[in-house]
Amino acid sequence: MTQPRDDRHGFVVWFTGLSGAGKSTIAALVEARLRDAGVLVYNLDGDDVRRGLNRDLAYTDADRVESIRRISEVTRLMVNAGLVVIVAAISPFREGRQYARDLFHPGTFIEVHVDTPLEVAEARDTKGLYRAAREGRLANFTGIDSPYEAPLEPEVRVTISSTPDDAAGAIVEAILARGLVADTPLQ
Ligand code: ADP
Repeated sequence: MTQPRDDRHGFVVWFTGLSGAGKSTIAALVEARLRDAGVLVYNLDGDDVRRGLNRDLAYTDADRVESIRRISEVTRLMVNAGLVVIVAAISPFREGRQYARDLFHPGTFIEVHVDTPLEVAEARDTKGLYRAAREGRLANFTGIDSPYEAPLEPEVRVTISSTPDDAAGAIVEAILARGLVADTPLQ
């Protein structure tokens, strides 16, 4: 790193997983818990960013890399401003997530793998995207015709055996265990 880093009190909770895995659902619960505890938190949702900052990007490998680079850099700016940033983005490539991680001080990047099997995410098909991908109406869809590289050592791994509430609780525990926020308001 050549540029100065000033994270102040900010840190990152970075959700990765297949479409429909439950990233946004769990992220919203973590956001609410942090906000209720008085933490200045922003939830940066990949789908939301797609409508603005990333609207010129598609889903090719190159565009996915660029999408994650932009999200990472926006996150860095927000964290430098002292915010806690929650990112929920498929972020399918290990290299892209490593790029993001390397922008932050060690211990201030919490990677959460929402490890929902493809069959489960596809059966939920909350946005109808799996069906569109299977019918050939949507190309380069993660898990169907574009790869998902699971994290090897995420700080937190969430499986479908937990309810979204329990998953959020485990993530808050991981935040507390790292001393990233004072524990009293979150108890
Ligand atoms: P993503 O952000 O990963 O695309 P979403 O959070 O938008 O996923 O959608 C996941 C869907 O799965 C939601 O409708 C959520 O209510 C549902 N769901 C069912 N069980 C779980 C669970 N254990 N954890 C997270 N989400 C779950």
